Amino acid sequence: LIQLYIPLNMLGFVYREIKQGLIDMEAMFKVLDVPEEVQDKPDARPLQVTGGEVRFEDVSFRYDQRRGILRDVSFTAAPGSTIAIVGPSGAGKSTISRILFRFYDIEQGRVTIDGQDIDAVTQASLRQAIGIVPQDTVLFNDTIRYNIRYGRPGATDAEVEQAAKLARIHDFIVSLPDGYDSMVGERGLKLSGGEKQRVAIARTILKNPPILLLDEATSALDTQTEKEIQTSLKEISRGRTAIVIAHRLSTVVDCDEILVLDKGRIVERGTHDVLLAKGGQYAGMWQRQLEAVEAEAKLAEVRAEG
Ligand code: ADP
Ligand code: MG
Repeated sequence: LIQLYIPLNMLGFVYREIKQGLIDMEAMFKVLDVPEEVQDKPDARPLQVTGGEVRFEDVSFRYDQRRGILRDVSFTAAPGSTIAIVGPSGAGKSTISRILFRFYDIEQGRVTIDGQDIDAVTQASLRQAIGIVPQDTVLFNDTIRYNIRYGRPGATDAEVEQAAKLARIHDFIVSLPDGYDSMVGERGLKLSGGEKQRVAIARTILKNPPILLLDEATSALDTQTEKEIQTSLKEISRGRTAIVIAHRLSTVVDCDEILVLDKGRIVERGTHDVLLAKGGQYAGMWQRQLEAVEAEAKLAEVRAEG
């Protein structure tokens, strides 16, 4: 998984981050292709989260000189609101989450949390304030209890179990012969995509961050698992600011604002109803997903009869 040519200074960086326990494992893996370490400013102060407002103001960004990736991206996620980002693959959705985490510095514009520019605060405090539920969760070769507790190393067993219950994975865990002491990861029990995602949700519940970043799995989960995960995600989004990178449009119906990103620009924005009525790109995506869902249901019917 980890490429062997990671420069030593990068390993040092990764190690410090582990030591500080401030960054999610999955985020750490994403950071490995970052060319240079983003530095704290000498006078960086800790982020003070009051309401949890996240704001992008005219953000432009490129990974390298040849090609612009984000262009004039502006949006405001009000405290406690949920914003969805949708759009084709390669549009720049995950880049927005990497910028919010400050894996990269931007070329133009400003990103603020509760009015504080994220490049003026310490990265440690920034990453402490944001919980990520990624597309693909990396598990440590350790017990499932350890893997959940990673969200907040000081949590008690009772708190770990409470988080697992909220994430709808407790029943599964206690059904295992070794329960919470079951070994998982590469050398242990292989968990399914949905189970891993629920571990990530449990971690995030323990971490209890004011801001959530959810990158929905692209891989097809079965309908039941998907429903359960969506219920859990809704529960943990309550009272927090959430930014959801959504693949399944069923997730975005209730969002306060949907941003349609295409080639690094926001091409449409609004609530589900407003965007449907508009009959543009979002309405087209919605129509195609409905057709896909119907086709799938028909296929299931045929299978059941056969
Ligand atoms: P999305 O999440 O919408 O599928 P991404 O934000 O991951 O899109 O990527 C946007 C564009 O940036 C893509 O064209 C991708 O190839 C490019 N890209 C992503 N990461 C890097 C990187 N580390 N270096 C150079 N280009 C990148
Ligand atoms: Mg992505």
